[in-house]
Amino acid sequence: MANFDQIQMPIHMSDFTLVIHGGAGTILKDDMTPELEKAYLDVLQSSLDAGFGVLEQGGSAVNAVKAAIVVMEDNVLFNAGRGAVFTKKGVQEMDAAIMDGSNLNAGAVAGVRNVRNPILLAMEVMNNSNHVFLSGKGANDFAIKQGIKLEPDEYFYSQFRYDQWKSIRDSDNYSLDHTNHHLEELLRDKKFGTVGAVACDSNGNLAAATSTGGMTNKKYGRIGDSPVIGCGTYANNHSCAISCTGHGEMFIRAVAAYDVSCLMEYKGLSLQQAMDIVVNEKLVQIGGEGGMIGVDSKGNFSLVLNSAGMYRGAKNNKGFNKVEIYK
Ligand code: ASP
Repeated sequence: MANFDQIQMPIHMSDFTLVIHGGAGTILKDDMTPELEKAYLDVLQSSLDAGFGVLEQGGSAVNAVKAAIVVMEDNVLFNAGRGAVFTKKGVQEMDAAIMDGSNLNAGAVAGVRNVRNPILLAMEVMNNSNHVFLSGKGANDFAIKQGIKLEPDEYFYSQFRYDQWKSIRDSDNYSLDHTNHHLEELLRDKKFGTVGAVACDSNGNLAAATSTGGMTNKKYGRIGDSPVIGCGTYANNHSCAISCTGHGEMFIRAVAAYDVSCLMEYKGLSLQQAMDIVVNEKLVQIGGEGGMIGVDSKGNFSLVLNSAGMYRGAKNNKGFNKVEIYK
């Protein structure tokens, strides 16, 4: 008779889910052309499919979020990688972070230039350095040493980001304007298109990743919430994986992503309840416009925004598959 140790337990497969965002802000249907709307929805779907494909093949949450982010970084429509916004000095300085909820490993970079896919550099920091967070020239040196793909300045250039920057470069303005404008003005005045992904894989492991060019006309080496672990990006198998988008200064002050995790871990709130409190109460109280995506280790997911829109999508193994823009 087999003793207890010899009984083979079936391997438990969790539900698996991928959720993405492509930035939040005053995104209104009236300001959008059908062509532009379709272009955004198409890339969101490609990103979802790329990340979900990894999960379907039994891949890890970390590899799924990486795959989803790379698709959006490579597309000029988003403020990450190609198409990143311009700084006060007229260059692109990009931030990114990735976190593995199964072991709390994390990697992040800030203010990197000419790196084709900042998320791949963040992953390299996580997997192949003794550090968590590298910045500026040092991060670029590390990219070169590790053979991370670089691109010339022209690769990152996009006319509408350039026009957006040109219109405010002589001012100290870098911030959000909350009134409604036509798209042309929106693209000039508002920052859009930070990208993020969170996933729960078939083993119940969680991961989060975020990548951004930050805010138009930012100066003095400004770093937003996206690469700051616990603020714009966080993952912990015991609670959730979160990626944020919005006015980074407020998300840093709110320690937004980690606050969701804490509300779940220490107060027993559900993902949806915790995200609602952080986005619709705590961030609103300090004027933090934006949103976030989250997933828990059962594959439940939530997308919450206090802005008029957020490019977003979710796909799971139960057949849910949706991409959306407006609130
Ligand atoms: N949160 C990003 C930052 O402040 C910007 C964004 O989400 O669009 O850098």
